[in-house]
Amino acid sequence: MDVNGSDPSNALLIPMNKEEIIAEDRSPRLKKPDWLRVKLPTGKEYLHVRKLVDTHKLHTICESGNCPNMGECWGAGTATFMILGNICTRSCGFCAVATGRPLAIDEKEPERVAESVKLMNVKHCVITSVDRDELKDGGSMIWAETVRAIRRASPQTTMETLIPDFRGQWENLQRIIDVHPEIVSHNLETVRRLTRQVRIQAKYERSLEVLKRLKAGGMKTKSGIMLGLGETQQEVLETMDDLVAVGLDVMTLGQYLQPTRKHLPVKEFIHPDVFAFYKTEGLRKGLRYVESGPLVRSSYHAEKHLF
Ligand code: SF4
Repeated sequence: MDVNGSDPSNALLIPMNKEEIIAEDRSPRLKKPDWLRVKLPTGKEYLHVRKLVDTHKLHTICESGNCPNMGECWGAGTATFMILGNICTRSCGFCAVATGRPLAIDEKEPERVAESVKLMNVKHCVITSVDRDELKDGGSMIWAETVRAIRRASPQTTMETLIPDFRGQWENLQRIIDVHPEIVSHNLETVRRLTRQVRIQAKYERSLEVLKRLKAGGMKTKSGIMLGLGETQQEVLETMDDLVAVGLDVMTLGQYLQPTRKHLPVKEFIHPDVFAFYKTEGLRKGLRYVESGPLVRSSYHAEKHLF
């Protein structure tokens, strides 16, 4: 089904595209501070994984997303895979993934991802996906089969699933709960006020509801936001309160970096001391684990969040 086609609830999802959002805000580019410089990945374990990835032409989002933490994550036996293709039905203003009409579902994808996890000897694997709002099941069947396939191929490997909101179709969310990944993430990405600007087809309250239902289903839950999009400190602290209220276990906070000039501009580079303050506050408010720093991405140190 076309995203703008016969399903009226879908038709409401794309009132603006990325360019229209950015056209509203043409502030000058800020100079990157020193604390955002990244070291080139090295280390025995990283180089071993690097060789496997190159030899078998494996695909990870760590690489295609140019993640600054790739060396550290691969060195720790963690890798992130994106499923359900590389074209998304949504058009979040911060995201480098292409927006459009996705290709047909690949039924063999779960086995292929499981094979990559096995070949790379991944100890902890993060799986994420584009949003497939045009599908009735939102891609949840492929999600569930991917978790099962990885379990069959690599029973020792633990998993984090970084899932979409499935447009609030809770039977699709239930498919994730039923396969019981070790931890389930769903990112708020920003504070309540900026949600419409940053992820136009999403709803702040619906994302909180996703996290609440995951918790009620017995999951360990995780969520993250990006900083530097124009949010205030008070709004960040309120977001933490909202996440604590839905029983969240793990929160990540990292600096937003503009992928290209067609994406939302960086409004502010947040100082590492402020990130440290948020970590302290998050723990004080009752979150079990908080990763907070300029280079933190949602799967950063993912293997440590299993507790
Ligand atoms: S839903 Fe996810 S993949 Fe799609 S545009 Fe938004 S952030 Fe990117």
